[in-house]
Amino acid sequence: MLSSYSFSSLDTYRVCPRKFKYAYVDRVPIPPKVTADTYLGNAVHRVLRKLYTLGADGILMPMDRAIEAYLEEWQKLDRNSITSPSDYYTIDDYIRIGKEMLVRHYEHYQPFDQGTLLGAEMHLTFQLPGTPFKFKSYIDRLWKKDDGTVEICDYKTGQSTILPHDRRFVYQMGLYQLAVQANFPQYESVDLAQYLLRKDEIVSHRLRPDELDMLAEQLRLDVNDTIESTRKDDFPAQEGSHCTYCSYHHLCPAKIHRRMLEEEEQSGDTGEISALQLKELADEYLRVYSDSKRIDAELDGIKEKLLNIARDHDLSRFDGDSGKVTVSVSRKDEFISKTRDQKAFAQLSALCRKLQLDEYFSLDARGLMKEVYQKKRLPDDILNQLKEFVVEVERSRVTAKLNAETDPAGEESSNDS
Ligand code: SF4
Repeated sequence: MLSSYSFSSLDTYRVCPRKFKYAYVDRVPIPPKVTADTYLGNAVHRVLRKLYTLGADGILMPMDRAIEAYLEEWQKLDRNSITSPSDYYTIDDYIRIGKEMLVRHYEHYQPFDQGTLLGAEMHLTFQLPGTPFKFKSYIDRLWKKDDGTVEICDYKTGQSTILPHDRRFVYQMGLYQLAVQANFPQYESVDLAQYLLRKDEIVSHRLRPDELDMLAEQLRLDVNDTIESTRKDDFPAQEGSHCTYCSYHHLCPAKIHRRMLEEEEQSGDTGEISALQLKELADEYLRVYSDSKRIDAELDGIKEKLLNIARDHDLSRFDGDSGKVTVSVSRKDEFISKTRDQKAFAQLSALCRKLQLDEYFSLDARGLMKEVYQKKRLPDDILNQLKEFVVEVERSRVTAKLNAETDPAGEESSNDS
């Protein structure tokens, strides 16, 4: 278990568990690397903090002074140490984009006193209720609007479009709300707002108490997942566009072969194992895999036909010249799974905790179904609450058995779904 969790650590785990391991479990030191987009974000955040902090005291920092302060931020770094994450944008492009964002925001919100500033760039910590898990969060701006509502503001300098119901929005901003409410319980009415500085738009939302409870449950489950991964030392590498921003390519099992190939190509030397031989092995596997995909698709098509006939005409065995095929189709009740509906699964988990059924629920709900629900071990009203999360699932099995002369080993082969 980590000493504390944050939006960024849990988001890293969600995006790539392997990166989470390097960054938060092993704490692998990495050479400092500054990318232009993250530096732009930091520079803009610093200037906005100045503008709002001065605005709270009735002082309007002139626009040209604000821009000067922004450009000074860029001068603090050796330009050669900054890399551009894009093939098309230069460092000067990023500087200009940040400046344009600031000008737009300045023109829209000056003199920056539309609310009472409660804090800028605040570090808040809290313990997730009912758990030993500590969280930390970093809030760009907290302020009270004229109607008494407290607004948690987060500045976004990237290009992505966000909707208030996006999982990421609820996850990040809801976590901030939990932090604010744990530290300042007197603030009852709270709005969440992300300022999309590139577009000069605000995405805002107010979470209902039940949504916030659900988020707390989701956070608890997510932390448990990280603990389980740590216990088993099981952190799969999940590749994607996010790899561009990852500093652990030199360790990542998904990137090492590519590096070995490049090195081998340049030096002509092979290490303990030849990268080229591994490439040939991969190609061989891919060729056989592609054949097996084609055969699987053919098998699935035939299986579907057999299952449909078995369902429609109540048949369970089909006889051929070289053997027989048996088919079974059954329907059974199961509790909703995490992969099927993550939100409903979190609701079921919360209900089980409330009903003190954790020992049956554990990581999946099979024990709950077998030992509690099917044996009707609880009063009807509780069974009815659980019923909301029950889904009927079809299980089918197609088994092929070849005749002895065709297959002397007499092995059966099954195909379940
Ligand atoms: S390079 Fe990509 S896959 Fe590897 S650890 Fe980093 S983010 Fe994960």
